[in-house]
Amino acid sequence: MREKNMLCDLAVDAIAGLRSYQPGKSIDELQRELGLDEIVKLASNENPLGPSEDVKEAIAKATAEISLYPDGNGYYLKQALADKLAVSTDMITLGNGSNDVLDMVGRVFLEPEREVIYSEYAFVVYAITTQAVGAKGRVASALSINSEQPYGHDLAAMKALINGQTSVIFIANPNNPTGTYLELDILESFIKSVPSDVVVVLDEAYCEYGDKGESKKTIQWLNKYPNLIITRTFSKAYGLAGLRVGYSISQPEVADLLNRVRQPFNVNSLALVAAKAALDDEAYLEETRVLNQQGLKQLVAGFTALELNYISSVGNFICVEVGEAASRVFNDLLKEGVIVRALEPYKMPSYLRVSVGTLKQNEKFLNALAKVLKNV
Ligand SMILES: *Cc1c(COP(=O)(O)O)cnc(C)c1O
Repeated sequence: MREKNMLCDLAVDAIAGLRSYQPGKSIDELQRELGLDEIVKLASNENPLGPSEDVKEAIAKATAEISLYPDGNGYYLKQALADKLAVSTDMITLGNGSNDVLDMVGRVFLEPEREVIYSEYAFVVYAITTQAVGAKGRVASALSINSEQPYGHDLAAMKALINGQTSVIFIANPNNPTGTYLELDILESFIKSVPSDVVVVLDEAYCEYGDKGESKKTIQWLNKYPNLIITRTFSKAYGLAGLRVGYSISQPEVADLLNRVRQPFNVNSLALVAAKAALDDEAYLEETRVLNQQGLKQLVAGFTALELNYISSVGNFICVEVGEAASRVFNDLLKEGVIVRALEPYKMPSYLRVSVGTLKQNEKFLNALAKVLKNV
């Protein structure tokens, strides 16, 4: 046996204690393990429609130039985003996925003496971003199971954790994995109450699924709250998870800081053209929204018929409670060719998170769920 590599002891403390992000199981992986041909993956909140035709065309055209470095400034994509969001281009920071932007926030605003606040059951990347730079994560208790937003962010609990060391607060709205949503007036009063020297990151990875007026409103907050950073992504509603492209919107001075740590060519040339084409394809986005609404209804009806509790969601995923046997149910679903997400890593061990698929995929999942719940 090989001896342990000495470098393991050399990793800085923050990294030595870090656990890497656990992605959902891939279709390929399950195919290799079980040899099933028909697999439905409802595990990573991807768009079940696949990329839009316009996107595929734009990518096909752009492949002729992949021997060249991409436009490090993302001129055309930023211009398109600025037009759409009615902001100036210098307020936009492009990322290799919005995860990349979250990471930039950590590198710009955090160091070991500083603290970060996020909620219990919040998106796990906040904890990773915090620990990776040795900052201290303070986890606010979530709302109770019996509240209107079970497991959702408790802004009062988050506020109570603010102290002189607090540098960043992460809020996901809606939150993943819970799908819970904070009403904007409540959220705005919270942001208003946060000291202006604390960065508030509002992660809106799923905002395209919600009310269009609401996603415009939060952008307007940027004029009032210079400490606000909003992050969004092309991975979910725009169907580009595999290309890795996201962005933040902030006041220009903040964007300038983020840009200092951004890798020079962090968004590749295919992602740049694809994101622009996706942004222009409003019909695709509308189709996505409609399909998602139908799918959520279908899943809720299915859970109700199976007498299962679920957490009402405004995203493209929903959490359903299957009890103590959740990990068995998860594994039995795999054998039926359905990949969902088990939520032990989020300390919600009795729940499964399922992404909204096509109506046919949802049906396959619901049938498989009914079947495996009977295997006791
Ligand atoms: C999926 C997701 C992201 C987006 O990640 P990308 O890096 O843009 O693919 C960000 N925040 C939350 C809460 C998410 O669920």
